[in-house]
Amino acid sequence: MTSPSRALTRVEAQTRAALVRVGGYAVSLDVTDPATYVSRTVVDFACASPGAATFVEMKDVRPERILLNGRPLDPATLDGNRLPLPGLRAANRLEVTFSADYSRTGEGLHRSVDPEDGEVYLYGQAPLDEAQRIFACFDQPDLKAPVTLTVTAPPQWTVHGNAPLRQAGDGVWAFEPTPPIAPYLFTVLAGPWHVRTAEHDGIPLGLLCRRSLAPHLDADAGELFAATAANLDRYHELFGVRYAFGKYDQAFIPDFPGGAVENPGLVTFKEEFLFRTVATDYDRLRRFVVMAHELAHMWFGNLVTLRWWDDIWLNEAFAELMGWRVAAETGRHPGAAADFAAWRERWGMLADRRPSTHPVAPDDVADTAAAFLNFDGISYAKGAAALRQLSALLGDDVFLAGLRAYFERFRFGNAGLADFLAVLGSVAGTDLDGWADLWLRSTGFNTLRPLPGPSGLTVEQTGAPLRPHRFRITVYDSHGARVRDAPVILDGGSVAVDGRSGLPPGGVLLVDDTYAKVLLDPASLAALPSVLPAIADPHARALLWTAAMDAAGEGELSPEAFLTLLEAALAGEAETSVLVEVLAYARDDLARRGLVDFGPLAAICAAALSAAAPGSGRQVALATALTTVAGPPHVPTLADWLAPTPVSVLTGVAAPASSPLLPAPTGAAGLVVSQDLRWDALARLAALGAASASDVTAESRRDPGSRGAEKAARCHAALPDADAKAEAWEMIVREERAGVAMAAAAGFWQHGQEELTDPYVERFFADAPAMVSGRYQLFAKLIVRQAFPRYAGRSRRLASVMLAERSLDPILRREVGDAAAELSFGPGVENGGRRSTR
Ligand SMILES: [Zn+2]
Repeated sequence: MTSPSRALTRVEAQTRAALVRVGGYAVSLDVTDPATYVSRTVVDFACASPGAATFVEMKDVRPERILLNGRPLDPATLDGNRLPLPGLRAANRLEVTFSADYSRTGEGLHRSVDPEDGEVYLYGQAPLDEAQRIFACFDQPDLKAPVTLTVTAPPQWTVHGNAPLRQAGDGVWAFEPTPPIAPYLFTVLAGPWHVRTAEHDGIPLGLLCRRSLAPHLDADAGELFAATAANLDRYHELFGVRYAFGKYDQAFIPDFPGGAVENPGLVTFKEEFLFRTVATDYDRLRRFVVMAHELAHMWFGNLVTLRWWDDIWLNEAFAELMGWRVAAETGRHPGAAADFAAWRERWGMLADRRPSTHPVAPDDVADTAAAFLNFDGISYAKGAAALRQLSALLGDDVFLAGLRAYFERFRFGNAGLADFLAVLGSVAGTDLDGWADLWLRSTGFNTLRPLPGPSGLTVEQTGAPLRPHRFRITVYDSHGARVRDAPVILDGGSVAVDGRSGLPPGGVLLVDDTYAKVLLDPASLAALPSVLPAIADPHARALLWTAAMDAAGEGELSPEAFLTLLEAALAGEAETSVLVEVLAYARDDLARRGLVDFGPLAAICAAALSAAAPGSGRQVALATALTTVAGPPHVPTLADWLAPTPVSVLTGVAAPASSPLLPAPTGAAGLVVSQDLRWDALARLAALGAASASDVTAESRRDPGSRGAEKAARCHAALPDADAKAEAWEMIVREERAGVAMAAAAGFWQHGQEELTDPYVERFFADAPAMVSGRYQLFAKLIVRQAFPRYAGRSRRLASVMLAERSLDPILRREVGDAAAELSFGPGVENGGRRSTR
């Protein structure tokens, strides 16, 4: 085929949606051949203007036989990914047979070989417009239709689809028709899957993984089924509409791109969510939240589907909001709100500072290719925070009543933001357009500053536009005890909270639960090191940590004072996820910018590690954190973890000479050294020149899977060696396995290796177009972002030259523009300091 595939534009989608109604797809796949598959689709559809023409999509396939209303169409008329359908009748039947090669890059029908036992696994990945690789379809979200799937596969396999199995035998699996679904939500799995089943509330449940991971799935099956059951119950209570897709399977997939996909009835997850060793509490929290997020999509996205990709945020923000909400409400993860505050909201605010920031509800998603760019912190985290504000504004009961009305009204159909606001507004008896303009159709965030004074407390808001905020303000005394709290309604530039004097001596003021940068008053900031660790509420502590990070970013808290706070409060921070985020901030925004030394940071981390409970997930998390900041004094510790029989007591580790802060760590008894921790330790040793290429090769033999290949690529890229850098760069630019390319990029740029990596600053800008070309967009942008050189002045200059090119690829425009701008974020970057490199 000669002409390239084209992304569907919004105008084309609107035109086609006005013309076509799809009655249903019958899809037959033959996956018995190891190199190619054969797809036969029969689609019945109505045309509103008989005589008119439209087109159907199929991407990177070899059409063999096409019949429209019984008459053959010439396969040579396929133009890129579009087959013209001329002369339509009121009722039409299209029959398409094509063959195609399996994907090796994660989109369409992917074929994966298990390196541990040689077994083959197939999975379908349709978002956003890859269903057309698997079957001929009208590939847009508002042409929903039932899909009836039949698969011919090797008889020793099992096959799984969106719908329940109707019958199986002689290597043929036939499924029930699905309810109406959008093409992007189609999936199919085939292979010798390990399957566990259960049932809850009349809903059949399944868990799947490749056979060689069966022991890990079996070990966690109880927790996974219990979590699913708890979430189904809670969503049934909240949404008032039952789960609509029959059975509910959750599959852990090898070589999986991204985190998870919400295919109705058969959710696919990356298999790293199956823990192979001791998991931290935040590993479990975050897996729970992803499971809850995908289940929420069964309502937001699958039952009621967006019309066009400009509303992708409505899907994602709701799923995001619900994921964290039910994690806490089901009682399974009480610290969930702290994780959302310290991790996700900060992600949203970072995205909101970048040049690429956009309204939560954008109106300029011109085609499907552009839609990919909006899977970001704005659509997910800021969107979720905005919806939480909407719930606070209306009252949660009214908000939920509005949701129930929305699901009832648009069940199995499509809806957009205007529909959503109209339904909620009518239930609440108010017009929400003004609210939506401020929260959803504008960019940026506000800054809130509480000002305690002798006659009371005022909260000031700055930043345009000023938004309505609903939050609580809480006062803690010098012992961390809550003195009082009050709900606050802020609808303008400032609000007086109460008439009493603001702050007890040595106390702290906290602004809670809105999306804004909150700057603490100087007295609260000064009291943080003693008050923060004494506060019992994990969410309040997370918000104070966030405020401290913001204060450091604004220059209101010096980098040294931030380290003092870390030293005072880190070891006592019970929420592992919060502790990990705070350490990551100190590493990335302070140490890597040269504002503090790595030595004291590593010493603080090692001290917290030595205080962690033996054998705990927290101990693993702190050990992992230590591998990201460790210097020469910690080489023996890291090497110890890699010893053939890992020694579980830290020995012989002296605090770095540059650290006056802490005594030498005394021990980490009972530390469980997982394969992941081994790789992290090896990566650091490699970067420090304390491990060799042959050490990396030896470790690969212990961990031969696809994840091991990625970890090895990262370690190899980190070696302070010109040949290793050259090989890693080749991988970043050309490696077919995106996960491996991403890992090589993650290991490539290392603090202290500037002489070696210096030539690659220019190389990045020369090679960036090749990094995105031919790669799945979702990966391409991550690879570019990881590979971007953070050499402040030079990177910014070269980036501005690149950004001046008119025909620049949109992924490069966004990622390079954002990465260059981020070099200027953070405290004091432009004036002084040793901050020329990462
Ligand atoms: Zn989602």
